Amino acid sequence: MSAMDMTSAGESTRVEISVIVPVFNEAENIPGLLARLTPVLERLAASHEIIFVDDGSRDNTMTALRAANAADARVTAVSFSRNFGKEIAIAAGLDNAEGAAVVIMDADLQHPPEVIEAFIAKWREGFLNVYGQRTDRDTDSRVRRMFTKRFYRLFAALGETALPEGAGDFRLLDRRAVLALRAMPERARFSKGLYAWIGFKSVGVPFEVAERAAGESKFSYRKLTRFALDGLMSFSTMPLMVWTYIGTAVSFFALLMAMRFLLVTVIYGVDVPGFATIIVSVMFLGGIQLLSLGVLGEYVGRIFAEVKRRPLYLVGERIGNPAEPAPDPTPRSHARRV
Ligand code: UDP
Ligand code: MG
Repeated sequence: MSAMDMTSAGESTRVEISVIVPVFNEAENIPGLLARLTPVLERLAASHEIIFVDDGSRDNTMTALRAANAADARVTAVSFSRNFGKEIAIAAGLDNAEGAAVVIMDADLQHPPEVIEAFIAKWREGFLNVYGQRTDRDTDSRVRRMFTKRFYRLFAALGETALPEGAGDFRLLDRRAVLALRAMPERARFSKGLYAWIGFKSVGVPFEVAERAAGESKFSYRKLTRFALDGLMSFSTMPLMVWTYIGTAVSFFALLMAMRFLLVTVIYGVDVPGFATIIVSVMFLGGIQLLSLGVLGEYVGRIFAEVKRRPLYLVGERIGNPAEPAPDPTPRSHARRV
């Protein structure tokens, strides 16, 4: 069964709540997470499954997951052939989740499992897109918080989709929202933007982010920068458009200067000095042109990544039976829809 066939009518879901957990080198967090998460789910849901997406871990994550599956068959795992990134791990989780509602959370207990109770309550009230809203960012470093703030301000100014304040990946999605996300084939996945883009009846549930249980953040500043650029560029064409305005302004200014020089030359004759002005303006314009080319390049590179239509991820191994094992290596190949 392919991802797209899931939309067919009459589809029955086997479990009520699916929980997706992307993991990258989180072996030491898995037992602790399950010990807190499982009782919550047993109390709140008629049936559940917990799907770990191993994002190419190099530690004992897979050993820990095999042990977890042996102890409780409701815990399953999909393991990538290498590290594809958290956003893609979430997409794989959504592809495999069977639940009538799907909860996405981190493995490091920064997202308290107890908050899921409030998520489910809102879902039963009829909300299809229930997001956790962090009340503070004290657990992040000062530098990271500063960049985060800048990024969201820029995104609000340029992005064509409004992001709810403090919303992240910790959330519950109704099956309808999950199917909408599965239908999005893009490679540059800025999930936060996609959750907002699909819409549906949404509501925020405030929660306090806890300290990471063990290990350290798997996001380097380099990864975060790529992520921020992906986010801006997949939700805004402003960086492309702005050059039209800058170009117009610079040309207009150049025209005024030309007229001034023409008049001065006609009235006072040829005036040789002005070398500095020429060098400065040549360098300024050269800089602007390279910058705008660079922006173009960023978009062209992303278009290239999309048109290659490589599979979003490759599964190396499965533990348990998370949904239907995809028969072909392109679980979200959108070729069949074109
Ligand atoms: N993660 C992942 N792939 C990556 C980086 C992170 O699957 O390339 C997972 C990680 O194991 C964790 C979640 O994404 O479950 C959030 O990562 P982390 O706690 O490092 O991020 P932070 O809390 O610093 O934003
Ligand atoms: Mg974390």
